[in-house]
Amino acid sequence: MAFIADALSRVKPSATIAVSQKARELKASGRDVIGLGAGEPDFDTPDNVKQAAIDAINRGETKYTPISGIPQLREAIAKKFKRENNLDYTAAQTIVGTGGKQILFNAFMATLNPGDEVIIPAPYWVSYPEMVALCGGTPVIVTTTQENSFKLQPDQLEKAITDKTKWFLFNSPSNPSGAAYTHDELKALTDVLVKYPHVWVLTDDMYEHLTFGDFKFVTPVEVEPSLYNRTLTMNGVSKAYAMTGWRIGYAAGPLELIKAMDMIQGQQTSGASSIAQWAAVEALNGPQDFVAKNKAIFEGRRDLVVSMLNQAKGIVCPNPEGAFYVYPSCAGLIGKTAPSGKVIETDEDFVTELLETEGVAVVHGSAFGLGPNFRISYATSEDLLEEACRRIQRFCNACK
Ligand code: PLP
Repeated sequence: MAFIADALSRVKPSATIAVSQKARELKASGRDVIGLGAGEPDFDTPDNVKQAAIDAINRGETKYTPISGIPQLREAIAKKFKRENNLDYTAAQTIVGTGGKQILFNAFMATLNPGDEVIIPAPYWVSYPEMVALCGGTPVIVTTTQENSFKLQPDQLEKAITDKTKWFLFNSPSNPSGAAYTHDELKALTDVLVKYPHVWVLTDDMYEHLTFGDFKFVTPVEVEPSLYNRTLTMNGVSKAYAMTGWRIGYAAGPLELIKAMDMIQGQQTSGASSIAQWAAVEALNGPQDFVAKNKAIFEGRRDLVVSMLNQAKGIVCPNPEGAFYVYPSCAGLIGKTAPSGKVIETDEDFVTELLETEGVAVVHGSAFGLGPNFRISYATSEDLLEEACRRIQRFCNACK
């Protein structure tokens, strides 16, 4: 329709939301559906965090806040970066947004001119290329391989850099693959970046606290301090503290960039919810045992899902280091005939047939820019995960 802005023609709706919607519809029609599409922890927000929000309401902290966030939260963020990442930021170098999503969007909005390129490794979180396109930039997708555990290789990064590259977008642990970069793997990438001073780094550390075993999370500036003046380090409370609905994300970076993002936010949403900001202060400053407890639960689920999926005919499931996703290949099923009689030609066919035959909702890999794979979110109970994996095994065995 001519009335709608041209920019929207460059944007796709979210495939993950579409899958959740389809699963909800099937459920409403009486089907027994297990939804493994949602990207949020199934735990409740910790009680101390909820109490901090209730206290804030009772104290009357219910008014507009400064655009970039209340000083107490910005201080807590600066302290978090020092404590957990050994990064020195002043509170003035931080900004709080309505979810990490707004932080990313505003960073692009503040920096991208038409023709500017953003390097995005695939598989990627569905929103990255769409946000870049909406802000007038050009997403440059660099596809990783399952053999390389879905990790970008330094030569791939170097080849993708042009004079027009503005950002390198880095996400570890990754949504959707769960892959997380070790210190050495990340250093190999930052060694490339130091050679190209015009390229900035936007690191999405949203899943920082969800890594397993003795894996040690690292973020680009920690590994290569010389990138400090051209890195925006983004994070949030959604995944670590089961606070997806509170909508608080944050970042730290060079003052000039933070000020530009503040300017956009000031004409857009203003400060994030005052109550949610006070809750986030408690999440960051309060006891951290919630994080360790949940990490252990997620690790047990990952082990269960990886082991059961690798027993399904035609599925190969790598063992990711973090987040709460696995990203198995269904290449072995392509060309096979599903129980419905339909030939599976793509990963989208695979997930559609799986949902219709067995009532298991997962998201096709092509939505994340790399297939034939599919993403399972294991942020649900072990009982449901076991049942879902049993159904996937049955479905794969039934494909001929
Ligand atoms: N980054 C990644 C990789 C994500 O998976 C998500 C949420 O799914 C976000 C950012 C945004 O999180 P929020 O807006 O809830 O802070």
